[in-house]
Amino acid sequence: MTKPAAKHLRTFLIVASVGVAIGLSTFAWQQRRPNPTHKYSARSSGEAKNWQAALRVKLSEKLKIADLLEIERDLALKPKVIATNRVSGITIQTVRINIDERLQSHIFLSIPNDRSTPVPAVVCLFGHGSNGTQVFSAKSEFSGLGLELTARGYATISVSLSGCRPSLSRTRAGERLWKLIRCLDYLESLDFVDKSKIGCAGLSMGGEMAMWLGAMDSRVKATVCAGFLTTMDHLLDFEKQHCPCWKIDGLERLVDFSDIFALHAPRALLCQSGLKEPNDQFPVTPARSAMLEVNKIYKDLGASGQEALQVHDGGHVVHLESALKFFEKHLPVAK
Ligand SMILES: [Zn+2]
Repeated sequence: MTKPAAKHLRTFLIVASVGVAIGLSTFAWQQRRPNPTHKYSARSSGEAKNWQAALRVKLSEKLKIADLLEIERDLALKPKVIATNRVSGITIQTVRINIDERLQSHIFLSIPNDRSTPVPAVVCLFGHGSNGTQVFSAKSEFSGLGLELTARGYATISVSLSGCRPSLSRTRAGERLWKLIRCLDYLESLDFVDKSKIGCAGLSMGGEMAMWLGAMDSRVKATVCAGFLTTMDHLLDFEKQHCPCWKIDGLERLVDFSDIFALHAPRALLCQSGLKEPNDQFPVTPARSAMLEVNKIYKDLGASGQEALQVHDGGHVVHLESALKFFEKHLPVAK
């Protein structure tokens, strides 16, 4: 081969191999993340409500709790108070309730001192490794929101989400969600709780479960989701840094997280994202792009402004001040 011919061949091979590499990586990406089939796009308010109703049915099947939602709603809670403690002037009861026919769980109920009129209530969800009590600690990443709310006249309920295991007939997220739905049943059974003012606040995996609870149960009127709003692409890009418990078979082909959050509309939603979040966790950039998607359905339902992304200076934490302000606005304590 002549020298110029060899040079041309070399150039051709380099260009071809780069092309093949790009092609393969695009192919791999497409394989990993095809366009979700039920992604929300702008539509009329009637169509948006139909989209929500149809997606809830699909998601209850993916979560493998459709049967529970239909059958077990009348299952008796049989609450039993196990302990009553005073923490910083607040009463916290440990209560055992029936989750389903087989499982019982301990929940923590904080009770405000003034219950002369029915009080609003907030389900508080810490992430991994919680026994359910960290939501009351100012030193935890939850910033003591549970305690601060109770001091301002709210009841709160908290529960450990560990111990929920996937099985052939259940998903882990479905098990966790069912436990939280039972917490709502319990709140509704308390005569000092105002059933029209129930909210939810969660951090990290607790934020993920706040997303699910508000999406699937319309009894939740206002949700704070801290340190979780992102895109599935972002979690998949940093797959090794994340616990895979968000994954449900077929979920990523159906929707993105923004679509699950879209099921909260037109109810109040505050997502919080910290500027100090590491890029491989829940940073602000994918949170912003997810919120732009969520904005669409609030606009279509004539409820723009009921949803917000609050970017704060902290890291993977609950931003206390804006969370309190949000609940005081959307679930005010009766004066
Ligand atoms: Zn996990």
